[in-house]
Amino acid sequence: MTPPRVVILGGGSAGWITAHLMRHAWPDAAITLVEAPDIATIGVGEGSTPTLKRFFEVIGIAEAEWMPRCHATYKAGIRFDGWSPAAPWPSYRHPFITQVDVHTREAFVLNCRNRRLGHDVPVHPDAFLLGARLSAEGKAPIAPPHFPFRMEYGYHFDAALLGAFLRDVAVARGVVHRAARVEQVTRHANGDVAALVTDAGEAIAAELFVDCSGFAGRLIEQVLDVPFHGFGDHLFNDAAVVAPTPPVAAPATETVATALSNGWCWSIPLQHRVGNGYVYASAFQSAEAAETELRARLGLVDADEVRHLRFRVGRRARHWERNVVAVGLSQGFIEPLEATALHLVLNTVEQFIGHYARGKGTAKDRGAFNETINARIEGVRDYIVAHYKLTTRTDSDYWRANAANVALPDPLLDILDTWFRRGDLAEALRRQGNASHFGELSWHCLLAGYGAFPPVSEAPRDDVDFHAQRDVAAFLAGCALNYPAQREVLAAQSARPA
Ligand SMILES: Cc1cc2nc3c(=O)[nH]c(=O)nc-3n(C[C@H](O)[C@H](O)[C@H](O)COP(=O)(O)OP(=O)(O)OC[C@H]3O[C@@H](n4cnc5c(N)ncnc54)[C@H](O)[C@@H]3O)c2cc1C
Repeated sequence: MTPPRVVILGGGSAGWITAHLMRHAWPDAAITLVEAPDIATIGVGEGSTPTLKRFFEVIGIAEAEWMPRCHATYKAGIRFDGWSPAAPWPSYRHPFITQVDVHTREAFVLNCRNRRLGHDVPVHPDAFLLGARLSAEGKAPIAPPHFPFRMEYGYHFDAALLGAFLRDVAVARGVVHRAARVEQVTRHANGDVAALVTDAGEAIAAELFVDCSGFAGRLIEQVLDVPFHGFGDHLFNDAAVVAPTPPVAAPATETVATALSNGWCWSIPLQHRVGNGYVYASAFQSAEAAETELRARLGLVDADEVRHLRFRVGRRARHWERNVVAVGLSQGFIEPLEATALHLVLNTVEQFIGHYARGKGTAKDRGAFNETINARIEGVRDYIVAHYKLTTRTDSDYWRANAANVALPDPLLDILDTWFRRGDLAEALRRQGNASHFGELSWHCLLAGYGAFPPVSEAPRDDVDFHAQRDVAAFLAGCALNYPAQREVLAAQSARPA
């Protein structure tokens, strides 16, 4: 196929990730990225899923090259603190699922099944999965060469530095960078976009345009008027207040998501600071009250600056419209509880490249692509909604409204119904076509983590405790011995010559 001339509008994480993937897929394409120097990037989005690891592998950039420049740390998963006071434990971990977990997954699933039947057996997610064990020990998820399992992990990174790093490499690889504000958009007679006209008067023409302009949706919304479907009925959060704190000596290999009065707060440990942000619902808490709560939690003084953000949760009806594809915040956003936005960016671009190569944008191709991306986004949405539905917090109107919310998407109802009827969760997920990023073990972590079980109905029976029978604790402890402390790995990276 002849590669298209591409113009990417926007130089946030979405824009530069898109530039790299397209440069990789279409080495001969003319790719230009235009970004307005006076319109800031969103400046948050500092935790990833393992998809970012795959991205760097695809574009051929080693961790030792990019991680020190972005003050990045390893991320083995997320810890949820204080989300379910009625659970027998104050927190649980949702680690990234790795190849090693194949040895313990059955014990976890069987114990959960027995617990759903009323038997008093261990079901805490942290006890079954390697990533959780590594996080608990502050270890980097980097297996030594003699330990033959592929690890899945994500990263924490400074978003601004990552953007700058990706820009420099993309430009070195031939992507043309224009620092200019797009003020006008010209269109062909058939309605396709023809060119972006900048404040310097330059008209940048292309066959394909990628809208990475953030929440503005400069092309997908302002030019093509593609409708936005809000998820506000399911997800109430629409604002955040963000503040850094000093770095810690031994950064954790997990994001911590702590439930607060009207939302939750992330803690993302980087090498040079900790990123913190309180995500809340403006219908339940004012920006001032949220800031006060965050300041008290972090021990900030008056001179410490915080930043307020608003966001809209939902998705475009269509992400590929005419000769424009929307990627990143312009295509939609689900609140960051599972840090899935860049994962969806990568999914979108990879899917787009595949569909474009096959059909170059026939209506049928666009339709199939849009359907796939919508299913992916909604799969993530349902998992996030489950957090709010299953919460057992009752200490504010916000938490009570979440727990009482009956506006649940059908696929989520099916999953919850299957779980509580003691049915086969894997089968329920298969019925949904595997669109979700979250598989059976992730759902077990969430449901078990919230203590979503019926009351124990029998005396304990040791013949059904697969955790003890298979000595999962000893197995994980043995595996963890193979992994180095995160701070050792980061120190070794930084010591390498640039
Ligand atoms: C509170 C919060 C927390 C988040 N946490 C996470 C997380 O932990 N993990 C995760 O994966 N994601 C997270 N995200 C999402 C993540 O921040 C974004 O997906 C990511 O940064 C990509 O943003 P973007 O590139 O689409 O938009 P932006 O960063 O907003 O970039 C938009 C770009 O468009 C340019 N632009 C706009 N208009 C014009 C114009 N007219 N002319 C020229 N240029 C223009 C701007 O200059 C800028 O370069 C979070 C988001 C929020 C709101």
